Amino acid sequence: MESHEEIAGILLRYHRLLIVTHVMPDGDAIGSMLGLGLGLQRKGRQVTMTCPGGIPENLQFMPGSDQIVPVDEIRSHEYDIVVALDSSDPGRIEGVYEQIPPGVPIVNIDHHATNKGYGTYNYIDSASAATGEQVYRVLIAMNVRVDLNIAVCLFTAIATDTGFFRFSNTTPTTLRIAARLVERGADPSGISEQVYEARSLESLKMLGRVLDTLQVDKSGKIAWMEVYRDWLSEFSLDEGQTEGFVNYARMVKGVEVALIFRESADGKIRIGMRSKGDFDVGAFAETLGGGGHARAAGCSLDGQSISEAKELVFGKVYEIMGLAGD
Ligand code: 5GP
Ligand code: MN
Repeated sequence: MESHEEIAGILLRYHRLLIVTHVMPDGDAIGSMLGLGLGLQRKGRQVTMTCPGGIPENLQFMPGSDQIVPVDEIRSHEYDIVVALDSSDPGRIEGVYEQIPPGVPIVNIDHHATNKGYGTYNYIDSASAATGEQVYRVLIAMNVRVDLNIAVCLFTAIATDTGFFRFSNTTPTTLRIAARLVERGADPSGISEQVYEARSLESLKMLGRVLDTLQVDKSGKIAWMEVYRDWLSEFSLDEGQTEGFVNYARMVKGVEVALIFRESADGKIRIGMRSKGDFDVGAFAETLGGGGHARAAGCSLDGQSISEAKELVFGKVYEIMGLAGD
């Protein structure tokens, strides 16, 4: 494990850097990538940024997002070092990871406790609320001046991964870093509006459809929702636009585990998980080949229908919670 100071020193030894973040990127993924990328550019480095799949429209306001290039345009041998952000396992950066030549080091910066430590250098800190917090420390250690553009990206990263400082991962350090970023010009209310209040009418109608599927089991501790592929085409949406829906299932009083089952374009069932109690959904998702945090996690299951996936997952959740199944 490397410290943020060591990571800063390592990054500055290289000139051509490739930064990659995870598939279906969220605010922390894109914000921490842009924050680091813009910071390294200020140091005169040649930086390329990429991520598998598209960038959600509501994150494209961040400065530098027009520099992000599609994975299929990346030739990994053209870089001296690869930096992976917010990605707990190589599967999260599919399409880039496999093409990294053996001689090119990987720097793995992440705050997931389930991180597999796949980097040549690893800076993993599960006490950080967001990868954006870690990137802030690395930039300071590199003596980068945090300008308005970097502040907007890192504030977005930290604010989105903490639910605007409401989630249990929010610490005094989180708030101190956020305060610094606001001093540099990041505007919390403007950023909140860009991220959360620029939805399409269709995505809200879709939320109505998905909320209709919300159910709670007989113990009252498990709530779940379902998303079917033909609904996405009906509303002309892609899967990314159902991001955040699972949080509604967690709002039900008494619920400890909230789940969303989604039919994915690749034929898999994607499961989003949230916890409001002691149940560690990150550790649970890891047993199913996914990962995440204690209170927010996810995984994909192959070759199953939503009802099969539900049966499998509920059985395991009941077992861990010591509840009798139906
Ligand atoms: P979300 O439900 O917001 O997409 O994801 C919640 C958290 O779980 C995020 O920190 C995300 O990185 C992680 N996560 C979601 N799906 C997967 C997955 O399939 N594999 C891994 N390793 N982590 C996931
Ligand atoms: Mn994150």
